[in-house]
Amino acid sequence: MDKREFLKSSGVILTGSLLQRYVSAEAQTDRTNWAGNYTYHAKNLLSPKTTEEVQAAVKSCATLKALGARHSFNGIADNPLNQISLKQMDSIALDEKARTVTVGAGVTYGLLAPYIDGKGYALHNLASLPHISVVGACSTATHGSGNKNGNLSTAVSGLEFITADGEVKTLSRQKDGERFHGAVVGLGGLGVITKITVDVQPTYQVGQAVYENLSIAQLEKHLDEIFASGYSVSLFTDWQNHRITQVWIKRRIEPGTMQKWAPEFFGAPMAMKKLHPITGHSAESCTEQGGVPGPWYERLPHFKMNFTPSSGAELQTEYFVPRDKGYEAILAVEELRDQITPHLFVTELRTIEADDLWMSMAYKRPSLAIHFTWKPEWPVVKEILPQIEAKLAPFNTRPHWAKLFTVPQPRLKQLYAKMPDYQALVGEYDPKGKFRNEFLNTNIFG
Ligand SMILES: Cc1cc2nc3c(=O)[nH]c(=O)nc-3n(C[C@H](O)[C@H](O)[C@H](O)COP(=O)(O)OP(=O)(O)OC[C@H]3O[C@@H](n4cnc5c(N)ncnc54)[C@H](O)[C@@H]3O)c2cc1C
Repeated sequence: MDKREFLKSSGVILTGSLLQRYVSAEAQTDRTNWAGNYTYHAKNLLSPKTTEEVQAAVKSCATLKALGARHSFNGIADNPLNQISLKQMDSIALDEKARTVTVGAGVTYGLLAPYIDGKGYALHNLASLPHISVVGACSTATHGSGNKNGNLSTAVSGLEFITADGEVKTLSRQKDGERFHGAVVGLGGLGVITKITVDVQPTYQVGQAVYENLSIAQLEKHLDEIFASGYSVSLFTDWQNHRITQVWIKRRIEPGTMQKWAPEFFGAPMAMKKLHPITGHSAESCTEQGGVPGPWYERLPHFKMNFTPSSGAELQTEYFVPRDKGYEAILAVEELRDQITPHLFVTELRTIEADDLWMSMAYKRPSLAIHFTWKPEWPVVKEILPQIEAKLAPFNTRPHWAKLFTVPQPRLKQLYAKMPDYQALVGEYDPKGKFRNEFLNTNIFG
């Protein structure tokens, strides 16, 4: 079947240059997400190069979903017929006066960070890996760590997107108040974002040190202090022996100062060699440790840009609880340790500052996030998740939108006070549900 015939059969009407940038399912190589646990159903992939082409693509499709860098673990970026990838829209425009940078939707943090650093600027935080797109990450409230660091979406100050009727819309933090707060963590529901503007600040250096074997008992009295011991702090555990296997502390180094690292941290000794968060894995792919100062973007992520991050085939889940209930929540999960550990690569605990973004997991709540990197054993993992969710239910836990969870929609609705407003906002920009998919229908619209 030739291109035109195939498109006709799947209800897509493309003309001109966009026709050249269409790929049918048979011709696509990357039909799974990054982890390989989810195969996209979309038959067609559109790869526009310009805003006009995005508009034409949106107009031509009755149903469509934007795809970022494919790092989500569920069907949040899927569509039964059409996906659109803006990978080729990779412009970067720094506005030094406004202290912002505006990027095309194809830009990843790995591309953006060295560019702005070279011009003397930085972002406030990064996730554990730089391979994700800025738009895809901010659409799902992706976060790093740090008591005073909001998730990556909190840096967003402007959006340009194409609504269901093919119109270009812009929203900004300055002009659009609550509507903007509703749109930033948009879960791909409002339209296809073509450009995103984020805040920048003067560049800074970070040193990172790792300590081993911290007793979980230390968290009872010192959880806040431990997470405040650096600009960004991550605790890793396998849930055995009532201990945190590794503490990763990332500290900002102010110009002209030297960072002193104590040989011990709440009874945990500093690691004598570079470590991977998963015990026994090679640390070659990890960012520099031992307190050696380096640019923010080479220390805030755990993994280097040029290496395959983490362990490859894996599953992830993550639950957000109020930070002041963090210790109790950790103990509640620990009760399941013997079910969890055999199927786990590693758990990571991080903190996130509260924010005002309606669909953010940290909405109005300083949070502790309890993350699980699982072995690719979905049949077992899917039995464990409801047990963890039951243990965490008393803490009103919110699951990460881009990872795996089983919390049902009525419960999600209770956890997000602004969900009805978000539903209304989606309805305004997309009245016929062009950008809705199974994920949104199940978890948001119920
Ligand atoms: C190894 C690994 C490590 C991770 N580490 C972290 C971490 O440290 N912290 C954390 O919070 N998360 C983490 N994640 C999860 C990851 O940050 C999220 O899945 C993120 O959404 C991925 O972005 P993406 O560019 O791959 O987008 P995708 O997964 O492709 O899409 C995500 C969402 O964004 C929407 N979207 C993408 N582009 C557009 C667009 N142009 N317009 C409108 N909507 C769009 C999609 O429709 C979808 O709803 C990790 C994932 C992996 C695989």
